[in-house]
Amino acid sequence: MSAPTVARLAASTPAASIALPRSVILHTAAELTYAGCDDLTSIVHFAAPSQHAAGRVNTVSLDTATGQIHCECKGAECGQVCWHRCYVVAAWQRHQAVAEARALTNAKLLKYGKKHAFFVANYRARVGRAGEYDAVRLLAARWEYRQRRALAAMPPAA
Ligand SMILES: [Zn+2]
Repeated sequence: MSAPTVARLAASTPAASIALPRSVILHTAAELTYAGCDDLTSIVHFAAPSQHAAGRVNTVSLDTATGQIHCECKGAECGQVCWHRCYVVAAWQRHQAVAEARALTNAKLLKYGKKHAFFVANYRARVGRAGEYDAVRLLAARWEYRQRRALAAMPPAA
């Protein structure tokens, strides 16, 4: 899998400005399979087989810190908004690590995040890269923390 760089993600359209394509009704978030993450860039990758080219796998990436989305499918290459982009946030929210983080109290979420940050740093110091299990849970903890902080910052409904 060729992982997009941060610069390529930065050039992508923010998730909030995506208009829904007609193909979105033909797909679901469950069709996107988790394909890895990078704790240093906060980017998670999901993949789905191409509907148009046999053997091709499309990779869509979400920067969990900024919300930027990048897809490598033919539609996205042609400037179209693809269903992968529409569903990558939902696919991430369906991930087991995010579900685990979501179920925690604020105090336990902090402890959970610190534990996985420690394991990620420790593993990287030993073998030069983070362990996948801890890296995705660290990103999930940070994601959940940001979601709660954003929710807390919203004005109360009238
Ligand atoms: Zn796409």
